Amino acid sequence: MAKRVYQVWKGSNYFFLGGRLIFGPDAKSLLISLLLIIVPVTVFCVFVARHLRHEFSSYNAGYAILAVAIIFTIHVLALLLLTSARDPGIVPRNSHPPEEEFRHEFSASVEGGRQTPILQFPRTKEVIVNGMPVRVKYCDTCMLYRSPRCSHCSICNNCVERFDHHCPWVGQCIGLRNYRFFFCFVSSAMLLCIYVFAICALYIKVLMDDNQGTVWKAMKESPASVILMAYCFISLWFVGGLTGFHLYLISTNQTTYENFRYKAENRINVYDLGCLNNFMEVFCTKVKPSRNNFRAFVPEEEPRPPLPTTREAEVEMGDQDQRMKVEDDLDFGGDLLKISQRHNIEDIEADIRSRGSDVHHHNSSEADSVLGSDRRAPNVQSEVRNSSWGRRSGSWEIASEKSNVAESRSHVAPNEQYQ
Ligand SMILES: [Zn+2]
Ligand SMILES: [Zn+2]
Repeated sequence: MAKRVYQVWKGSNYFFLGGRLIFGPDAKSLLISLLLIIVPVTVFCVFVARHLRHEFSSYNAGYAILAVAIIFTIHVLALLLLTSARDPGIVPRNSHPPEEEFRHEFSASVEGGRQTPILQFPRTKEVIVNGMPVRVKYCDTCMLYRSPRCSHCSICNNCVERFDHHCPWVGQCIGLRNYRFFFCFVSSAMLLCIYVFAICALYIKVLMDDNQGTVWKAMKESPASVILMAYCFISLWFVGGLTGFHLYLISTNQTTYENFRYKAENRINVYDLGCLNNFMEVFCTKVKPSRNNFRAFVPEEEPRPPLPTTREAEVEMGDQDQRMKVEDDLDFGGDLLKISQRHNIEDIEADIRSRGSDVHHHNSSEADSVLGSDRRAPNVQSEVRNSSWGRRSGSWEIASEKSNVAESRSHVAPNEQYQ
């Protein structure tokens, strides 16, 4: 029986309704948040708004107070669930490191000056964002180069695009796909607090007027109003402060994570497009579709074809080499010298392979990268795309690492010459 993606998910998420809803591992705290909203609103409806129903005869204003409270609470709860139960922008993990980033370098071993190939790939890359270089890191857990603003959430154990922070109150990461809902939730919760506080104050005033009494007498008459006002006052500091902070972050196009990091590292914010454009980016752009289909069936792991003999692998790789090499050379203005060197290098490499067992192992992994199963293919392709995106940025480092075996050999060439 084929399993679905959410059933074999490697992150720490909880899934509900057959993978339709995704929560963080601390989703239980969401229940506390729900109670913190629902309980006070229920108290408000029963002990405050209900008594005000007949106070304002014109236009049924008394009923409107109750209706607004209920509808606005449903709105807040819907925003909470939209923030909490959806994919915040998780980058799908790779099942293996990106082979095309490998650099097969030859280092001289101690005895006899013979060379041993070592597998290397850079831990960071540089990409250009709005004309400024941004360093992106390789994620060991997800086996991918994070895009700019992407970060690995240690609680959910996923890489999340435009990672803001992991919110324990909603039990989910706040990222590219739910930041807008998160902000709307926090600001709406603030408005709900203000509304409940104001109506409770109004009720106290009504009680005072009706009984011709003092404030204290009115407060004694409706302890629920007093408790609600105190509760809203405290909550306002929290949600109001958070709303203000996020308004500042949105206006300067920062994430919470970047705000803390930039302050610490004194870095320039390369994402700032001006206040209006920053707001447009958060509120007026289409939410990107999820990169994960949690309900999709995981393809059965096909038995891999037996590894070809060294000779076969070389023939296959030779063809691949030829094509990729030509492509690369075209990209870089046709370095014909490298093409002519290639044949010599192949000869030398073949010679080295035939000698060392280490080399043979290395060779198998190369064969894997070329003759891997179908399941591997999309990953490789996406990474190549990623690399070419880097190349457009003019970063030589990424450009030179573009494709797997073919490109790695061009790294070998200069070393060989120095021997
Ligand atoms: Zn990661
Ligand atoms: Zn998280």
